[in-house]
Amino acid sequence: MAEKIKSSFVKVKCDDCGNEQITFARAASAVDCHICGARLAEPTGGYSSFKGEIIEEVE
Ligand SMILES: [Zn+2]
Repeated sequence: MAEKIKSSFVKVKCDDCGNEQITFARAASAVDCHICGARLAEPTGGYSSFKGEIIEEVE
């Protein structure tokens, strides 16, 4: 999934609480849900490895 991302930001949906938040497509550090704290993305050195569903790409 991640290798298809072309944008700088993505909107990702938290699997646990349904929160949608915008984050860097290539996060340098792990991204946690603002609402429940669940891990949403892990840094990989390139594009993040997303745990939740990517809703849309954001330019
Ligand atoms: Zn959450």
